[in-house]
Amino acid sequence: MSHEAIRVNVNSTSAGAACPDCGSESTRVHSSYLRFPADVPSGGRLVVLQLRVRRFFCPQSSCARQTFAEQLPGLTRRYSRWTERLRSPLAAVGLALAGRTGARMARAFGVSISRSALLRLLATLPEPEAPAPRVVGVDEYATRKGRVYGTVLVDVETRRPVDLLPDREASSLAAWLAKRPGIEIVCRDRAPFFAEGATAGAPQATQVADRWHLWHNLGEAAERAVARHRQCLRILVPDREVKAEPPAPPEEKADSPWRSERFANRIRARHATVHALLEAGHSRRSIGRQLNMTHRTLKSLADAAKPEDLFRGQWQHNRTSVLDEYKPYLDERWDEGYRDRTAPAQGRPGQLP
Ligand SMILES: [Zn+2]
Repeated sequence: MSHEAIRVNVNSTSAGAACPDCGSESTRVHSSYLRFPADVPSGGRLVVLQLRVRRFFCPQSSCARQTFAEQLPGLTRRYSRWTERLRSPLAAVGLALAGRTGARMARAFGVSISRSALLRLLATLPEPEAPAPRVVGVDEYATRKGRVYGTVLVDVETRRPVDLLPDREASSLAAWLAKRPGIEIVCRDRAPFFAEGATAGAPQATQVADRWHLWHNLGEAAERAVARHRQCLRILVPDREVKAEPPAPPEEKADSPWRSERFANRIRARHATVHALLEAGHSRRSIGRQLNMTHRTLKSLADAAKPEDLFRGQWQHNRTSVLDEYKPYLDERWDEGYRDRTAPAQGRPGQLP
């Protein structure tokens, strides 16, 4: 490509221009200056306009603007370094190829533009009008490493995100849904603010659980069911005999290597998660909130350099503790899915030794 540029002198022939604020026509020239917007290249050469722009007085005394520069409709806009007819191919290249590759492509047909300038140009384009979805998925998204949550709305049929709300409030979701009465189905998780927002904003729509949560819930239910029936496994597995042994008495369960190994693995996983988050710069408070842990649990996990350090003390097998005799019961409750110490011991009062 030649580095010589073609310069085209351009003067406006119109007598005056309209004030951008009040719209009054003015012919009283205040001053003039030169602009050099780049135009579509010709024959591999850069084309630059040398455009004489006049500044007019606004005739309207009530107008806040005293003077204004003229724009040539279809050719220039305020502050732009490119003519309108160069802007549109640059925008098309940017939309297809984005910053770095787009800038390289633009250079190939004779326009020098940086990748960040190309991205800024894309940012000024008007948002494309997204058709209102019929089936909308609602979920939360996190920014600032999980410290701030917002709501993302996805068109489930086209699988494209349609909007982001800055918070996860029921009222924001309800307002968004209310503006789109064509919505027939809302896919959501069990979060109470989504349920409330969907009911208030789209009372006409059917609410369903999304596929991820259905699989997730099914997975958890299957794990609980298998854990509850592990006695059946113990009969067959130990010496690979079909002959059924009588089920082991509950006192022995705590000593089974499978059980203690599983417990140790759970501790290892929690220890690794806590330390990964600490390394990523999260505060202990924020980690406690994210993992739903008490301050004391978190402190013991965070203070232990290795997960093995945590096995010393009350959970270690060769030391006894007042909790020992309750451990089988606690493990059983855990397997049944109770994670809350206030959950009532439903119909099992005889289980506590
Ligand atoms: Zn004006």
